[in-house]
Amino acid sequence: MKRLTVIGGGPGGYTAAFAAARAGMEVTLVEAAHLGGTCLNSGCIPTKTLKASAEALETALRLAEFGITCEGTPHVDPAAVLARKEKEARKKQKVIEIKEIRLSPNIDTNDLNTKINAAKKFLTKGDRVKVTLRFRGREMAHMASSKHILDDFAEALSDVCVVEKAPKVEGRSMTMFLTEKR
Ligand SMILES: Cc1cc2nc3c(=O)[nH]c(=O)nc-3n(C[C@H](O)[C@H](O)[C@H](O)COP(=O)(O)OP(=O)(O)OC[C@H]3O[C@@H](n4cnc5c(N)ncnc54)[C@H](O)[C@@H]3O)c2cc1C
Repeated sequence: MKRLTVIGGGPGGYTAAFAAARAGMEVTLVEAAHLGGTCLNSGCIPTKTLKASAEALETALRLAEFGITCEGTPHVDPAAVLARKEKEARKKQKVIEIKEIRLSPNIDTNDLNTKINAAKKFLTKGDRVKVTLRFRGREMAHMASSKHILDDFAEALSDVCVVEKAPKVEGRSMTMFLTEKR
């Protein structure tokens, strides 16, 4: 598997990292400051939020022109204006979690369907799902013939997800990663 390290978690970096992960690479993203880069933390979003507050004040000072009367003079609370700016940035900072679903080679159909439904909920929320098939004792001798359990699991969710990393043996387990289809 190809490995890629992306330096910088701004719009350029994270878009490249997601595209590479979808193409099947193992990606590490390194960010020195805050995810979201200039755009989210000091550029586009913060400046637009502050500009919106300034425009609201400007309109409030000219309410009479719009045929609206209001008692008193508008008061600006700088701390509240900055708090709103931070809140807007946080709303757009989406954290993607990795959820794990564990299966065993002899899982029954009902349990499997329950796990598939749980994975569907995680995926549609935007989280990544690591599906682990765990082998014990003599089950280890039949690892290859159990791979279809992971393939079937992914197939059952193919309307909402893509396989980001195909099934791979790691010690006593076989794992794959699923991610939301866009
Ligand atoms: C005030 C302002 C307003 C803006 N408004 C708009 C707008 O309205 N619309 C618009 O389209 N664009 C706007 N932009 C431009 C937009 O912010 C940039 O085009 C965009 O952020 C560029 O994305 P990027 O990923 O290339 O770089 P950045 O967003 O700058 O991300 C680079 C990231 O790399 C990290 N980094 C740097 N060096 C290292 C290192 N050695 N190791 C690890 N991490 C590192 C940084 O911490 C940073 O998070 C605005 C910019 C500013 C400054």
